[in-house]
Amino acid sequence: MIKDIKARKILDSRGNHTVEVKLETDNGFFVASCPSGASTGKNEAVALPAEKAIENINKIIVPQLLGKDETNQEEVDNLMIELDGTENKSKLGANAILAVSMAICRAGSKTNGLPLYCYISQLSENIQYKGGISHCSCNRRCSPDIDCKLPSPCFNIINGGVHGRNNLEIQEFMIIPQGESFEKNLEIGKVVYKKLKIILKNKFGERGIVIADEGGFSPPIFNDIEALDFVVEAIGDYNVKIGLDCAASQFFFDGKYKIDNKLFDRNGLIEFYGNIVGKYPIISIEDPFAEDDCGGFKLMMKNFGDKIIIVGDDFLTTNIERIKKAKEAGACNGAIIKPNQIGTISETIEAGRLIKSFGWKAVISHRSGETMDDFIADLAVGFGAYFIKSGAPAKKERMVKYNRLVEIDREIQLINKNENY
Ligand code: PEP
Ligand code: MG
Repeated sequence: MIKDIKARKILDSRGNHTVEVKLETDNGFFVASCPSGASTGKNEAVALPAEKAIENINKIIVPQLLGKDETNQEEVDNLMIELDGTENKSKLGANAILAVSMAICRAGSKTNGLPLYCYISQLSENIQYKGGISHCSCNRRCSPDIDCKLPSPCFNIINGGVHGRNNLEIQEFMIIPQGESFEKNLEIGKVVYKKLKIILKNKFGERGIVIADEGGFSPPIFNDIEALDFVVEAIGDYNVKIGLDCAASQFFFDGKYKIDNKLFDRNGLIEFYGNIVGKYPIISIEDPFAEDDCGGFKLMMKNFGDKIIIVGDDFLTTNIERIKKAKEAGACNGAIIKPNQIGTISETIEAGRLIKSFGWKAVISHRSGETMDDFIADLAVGFGAYFIKSGAPAKKERMVKYNRLVEIDREIQLINKNENY
């Protein structure tokens, strides 16, 4: 039973205020906090200023939630959705609702005696199939199809766009190691990141290794292709692929896309992507066109959908209606899942199930403004996400997510060997 909820202001990784919630049940205290984006999609649920969100939690949410069953995630989330009553959570604030929803999920996992990732796995299945406890290979009650697989990490090692301190248009240059385990991939990510640091320092001095929002370097490069060359040099002989988040809404002006001082129409941009996909080991491109340019996404799928993953982020905003429309249009084969784009854990899980039912790749993602909350690590395993994005293997608000995944990985290995952990 939910006995108490307290909300307070904390600072996020950009030094901005955000919401943290401490929820009390008979089984203890459960803390959760909400991140925030900088390159936000215009269809995302609305975050209110932290003070206002906290006031809404205290005055509107808490009185309605006291005494409710923390194991009934969907019912409690629906209650908050009703209390809000808007399409985009603009009355109570998605940051208010999500922090509470995450804390409830943690409390529910404890009451059920399950690790958070198993509980989320079970919730994911319940939301679609309504009930029925099944057994996975780890002998816990998570769903068999998810089977506790770990996502591949995508490390954002060069930051451009609105996250960067440079002139690069592409927002994220990510390395995706192809090792046999999560821990191995983390190790490769770390080595390549450090190698890049040396390369950039030799080339640009201290200015080359300025660190930006997501822990990646933000060297004074003016050319996105040159940035790719540095990434490839750092990768060296490792088996590492590349993922890009173009966040193209940020370089779309008056119907044209501006990259490296050149203006492109849709076909021109397709040609640009064709050249880099042909030359570099790119396996995934996120938001290659602006958030309303569904035609651009369709062209992308037509040209590259059988070779690489075309991921919608600002284009889809973890929104079920937008995801369904994109599926009908044949505009993506992968989707970002960010809980604060939609505002509750139940809706996040529903979006994730829909994405997976299409056979798309699910990519769980942090935000550029983060907290020390590691919820998305458990979420990624619970979903059976294909990728997780949590920035560079540096900066503690990014590392807590990767380190939690290492912990989950070891736990699953021990459970599978029937050893104590
Ligand atoms: C992104 O665009 O994928 C991202 C993580 O950035 P932000 O949080 O600024 O939206
Ligand atoms: Mg993105």
